[in-house]
Amino acid sequence: MSTQAPLFITMHAADNVAIVANDGGLPAGTALPGGPVLVDKVPQAHKVALVDIPEGGEVRRYNVVIGYALKPIPAGSWVHERLLQMPAARALEGLPIATARPPEMPPLEGFTFEGYRNPDGSVGTRNILAITQTVQCVAGVTAFAVKRIKEELLPRFPNVDDVVALEHTYGCGVAIDAPDAVVPIRTLRNISLNPNFGGEVMVVSLGCEKLQPERLLPPGSIPLVDERNVADVGASADSPLDVVCLQDDAHVGFMSMVESILRQAEEHLERLNARRRESVPASELVVGVQCGGSDAFSGVTANPAVGFCTDLLVRAGATVMFSEVTEVRDGIDQLTSRAATPEVAEAMIREMAWYDAYLDRGRVDRSANTTPGNKKGGLSNIVEKAMGSIVKSGSAPISGVVPPGEKARQKGLLYAATPASDFICGTLQVAAGMNLHVFTTGRGTPFGLAEVPVIKVATRSDLARRWHDLMDVNAGRIADGQATIEEVGWELFRLMLDVASGRKKTWAEQWRLHNALVLFNPAPIT
Ligand code: CA
Repeated sequence: MSTQAPLFITMHAADNVAIVANDGGLPAGTALPGGPVLVDKVPQAHKVALVDIPEGGEVRRYNVVIGYALKPIPAGSWVHERLLQMPAARALEGLPIATARPPEMPPLEGFTFEGYRNPDGSVGTRNILAITQTVQCVAGVTAFAVKRIKEELLPRFPNVDDVVALEHTYGCGVAIDAPDAVVPIRTLRNISLNPNFGGEVMVVSLGCEKLQPERLLPPGSIPLVDERNVADVGASADSPLDVVCLQDDAHVGFMSMVESILRQAEEHLERLNARRRESVPASELVVGVQCGGSDAFSGVTANPAVGFCTDLLVRAGATVMFSEVTEVRDGIDQLTSRAATPEVAEAMIREMAWYDAYLDRGRVDRSANTTPGNKKGGLSNIVEKAMGSIVKSGSAPISGVVPPGEKARQKGLLYAATPASDFICGTLQVAAGMNLHVFTTGRGTPFGLAEVPVIKVATRSDLARRWHDLMDVNAGRIADGQATIEEVGWELFRLMLDVASGRKKTWAEQWRLHNALVLFNPAPIT
């Protein structure tokens, strides 16, 4: 049990519940300063009723109704999910459209990082040779070749950070002409064009698969040179695709395939190795934010600090994407009102409606999102989780919507519509062109990506202490009263510039913790 003074956190003056901040929770009989005496033991991060709540009464947190009391809840009680009836999802009709007047945000100038400028104008934070695959069938051969590339070739190219096989489960055995197949296909295409790969696209194909190389990367999809320079250098935007096809008659035996992949890889490595980092404005950052393994502190410490940092990035002219449809669905009215234009609000509603229908097809709704760990961490339901999740988006106007698998094509705060699943959200943000990923966690997850550096932010000091060599930032200091949201937000902003510049490695990079690319495939499998 904690020896600290009783500590509880209320998010809004109108709230009738607060969360207990003390490590180990607080025992029954504890008098909360300026609040009730606890009638139950309340675990850390769980809610306590600040006043008597009648049966059917609203339970408010973040000044939002997160549930209705299923029976009378006396002041000082532990308010857990079994006491709450979840509110219905907000209808997608009659929402406020672009009504909010977000606070004036002066531009933030003078911040730079050292990045790799690409021919198409985008900027990489790492210099990686990525090997695209049209189909899962070639994954074993490619992995074998990548191991040899790393052992035999990479030491000769010290400016190249890594060689990564873009393994996935798509490409054949799928209804490739189904309308929704467009999602996994464009995801794979855009992943291979991520700024961290320097525009060096090489493909390993089987030969007989449904997703043929030309379908994955049609002529013109690879921006070989800055479009403005095409005429000058006489290059063509539709140079032939560099494909190693395993079923090609020329290959006799396995080693012939491997040698062929090595030969092609060497050409790309030579070009990648010639690149150098240069100072670029912070506006070249394309940051994807998400949370995973959330607890009730996520919305109190880590996510607000990320939200503050999001505002800094937007002020610096950068791109920030927040995602996770089921974790923003219950706050859709906040988001449509923050849309910069009615078109952005409409696009957001379109994505929500599509996802509602997708869930409906599987006979569930957004409440399928919450995990046993979320509940153990004090989050009663998806409404409460969503309110804490949306905070990552800060306070800037939302200037665009990126459909799943599409590339982000503008700067500012964007809503990238992705499932909340950590690995699928991360994969879709890689496709959207992210060059830095920020991940907040309360329960703890060792998430990492081979393609893009992942900065992890702990919501609680206890987690940051135990996972001291996995968590990059401890936002738990906010709950401990040792740092402000603003201080942690600035710390994160500066760390991002260091990580983007390659001056610092994240823990996930240091240990080479790489989660799989996991495609969002809403279309049928055959
Ligand atoms: Ca997530």
